Amino acid sequence: MLVAGGSRFGPRAGRLRHCRIAPNLSVCSISSLAASLLWTHHPREVGRDAKNWQKECTGSTMPSRLPRARQITRGLSGGRQFLPQEEPRLLEMFKEFYDRAAVYIDIDEGELELVKGCDAALRVTFPFKRKDGSIHVIQGYRAHHSRHRLPTKGGMRFSPTIDLQEVEGMAALMTLKCAVADVPFGGAKGGIRIDPRDFHEKELERIVRRFTTGKLLLLLFSFFFKCLLVLTRVFSFPFAFPLELAKKSFIGPGVDVPGPDLGTNSTVMGWMADTYVKLFGKEQIHAYGVVTGKPSEMGGIEGRKEATGLGVYYALREFMSDASVMEKAGLAEHVGTNLVGRSFVLQGFGKVGYHAAVYIVRSGGKLIGVSDRKCGIMYKQGIDPEALMLHKAETGSVDGFIADSELDAVFRGEENVPELLEQECDVLVLAASQQQLHCGNAARVKAKIVVEAANGPVTPMAEDILESGRGCVIIPDIVASAGGLTVSYFEWLKSLSNVRYGRLTKKWEEHSKLVMIEAWEDIGGSIDEQKRRRILQGPSELDIVFSGLADSIIVSSHSTIETSNRLGINLRQAAYVNAIVKIHDSMKHAGFLLA
Ligand code: NAD
Repeated sequence: MLVAGGSRFGPRAGRLRHCRIAPNLSVCSISSLAASLLWTHHPREVGRDAKNWQKECTGSTMPSRLPRARQITRGLSGGRQFLPQEEPRLLEMFKEFYDRAAVYIDIDEGELELVKGCDAALRVTFPFKRKDGSIHVIQGYRAHHSRHRLPTKGGMRFSPTIDLQEVEGMAALMTLKCAVADVPFGGAKGGIRIDPRDFHEKELERIVRRFTTGKLLLLLFSFFFKCLLVLTRVFSFPFAFPLELAKKSFIGPGVDVPGPDLGTNSTVMGWMADTYVKLFGKEQIHAYGVVTGKPSEMGGIEGRKEATGLGVYYALREFMSDASVMEKAGLAEHVGTNLVGRSFVLQGFGKVGYHAAVYIVRSGGKLIGVSDRKCGIMYKQGIDPEALMLHKAETGSVDGFIADSELDAVFRGEENVPELLEQECDVLVLAASQQQLHCGNAARVKAKIVVEAANGPVTPMAEDILESGRGCVIIPDIVASAGGLTVSYFEWLKSLSNVRYGRLTKKWEEHSKLVMIEAWEDIGGSIDEQKRRRILQGPSELDIVFSGLADSIIVSSHSTIETSNRLGINLRQAAYVNAIVKIHDSMKHAGFLLA
């Protein structure tokens, strides 16, 4: 494959990429080839002009069986169509939040820019032939925001509106989330621009395997760039750019480890793992560490599917146990009771939302409203999330779970569903998608606490409106939704060690506890049979995972509250400050800033 194209210096160059290395590019003819390989990878365009190829394909890319109007509304899941014009896109939104926190950090401005910028981004375009013979051009994206720690980590989503700026913004959030949760990874994010509802499962499998392999083909070229690396070292050639490209591998257990996200699940992760292992498993003993959120039969971990939702619950519980937070939210009288009796509304009844709801309800909270993409229902007597999930599994929606006549309110259609966000409640859990609260609806939100279970669901303008108006407290995404990432880290460690948590020590722990109980009984102590059995039981993998998760969220929640109170800033700014300082320190000690 040979793809040619110019490479230029100029104020607009690299705008798309937000690439950290851009200012350091050396002049070398190889850069255009390398850039083409890196940024837009067309594995089938051998001997073709890239533009012509794309034109040919785009003529028949639109899904022919969908009417045009439906194609447009399909974009709603990204939220952009309902977003007021003045709201920034996701990447700019991240930068705005970052800048708001950065003013409280005593670090050189250039170094702050370095932490903020995206390291590398990849766009893959490949043709896909459907059963009916129609050709689609599928676009896939992956961004590595920061490689200060490797591997990078972040979700893989299916979304009809995903684009490069979105994955860059999401990857940046992941970098901060890793730092907040003390997970030693850089941040990444990726996705395939499709609506999974339009494709058969077999077709999705082919797309995912093709996307993974497409990235792997890129890896094969790394041999070429490694040669350049050697030449650079030996002869001091000015190959700064290709030298950077030698590092541009986009998947691998030590490079970048995707996990499930919006629209994807453990099956999709299984396809990715299998594709990778088939190609590299022979040489790489840790090949299954290439993705997390895998099925347990493929080395996945117990508790991953609950992890993000459970983490949301832990975070909410911790923030609501703090008097300063509860006072700001106007809930001071409920400090001791925490979630008991508190009403909550949930947007997004998917993997994250469902598990968050289950744990909040189990600890005394009352689910009074819930929505998915198609429908929102309000029922103040309280909704049982487990029964609702059974209904959703059967019908595909929360619609019809309770008869309309019994509901307090029902919202149908994508333009009406957002009204659920404006209902009276103590806590609003946002577990659907980004930019759901914006300057167009924030003033009508009545919740006292907003929890960001999704990534980036509240825009900066909405945050200003919510906080300045009624003193609503926002628990930021990089703390509240870090549970999935944390357990993914545990899963990655499990893949490296190839052994289930607790397997080696369970019996030993049971034995040591038995010795202690017997010693206690020898001196006249007694213990009833039920307690004895509970104490004696060694931990299962699930026990270990959940205790590690709880510890991580408790620590990050309280350090966020501490920074917020110390600097007199909101919780998001505090979480960003903590994260940026950690990332900067890590880069400084690695010497990256001197490059
Ligand atoms: P999912 O696809 O399983 O569920 C998303 C749910 O939201 C679906 O029920 C969908 O119908 C609903 N939805 C989408 N748009 C909506 C809208 N505009 N209004 C109401 N409901 C809407 O996805 P998920 O894995 O639960 O992820 C949800 C969010 O959490 C995403 O933003 C994702 O990035 C974030 N997140 C996920 C994980 C994870 O481990 N899955 C981890 C961290 C963050």
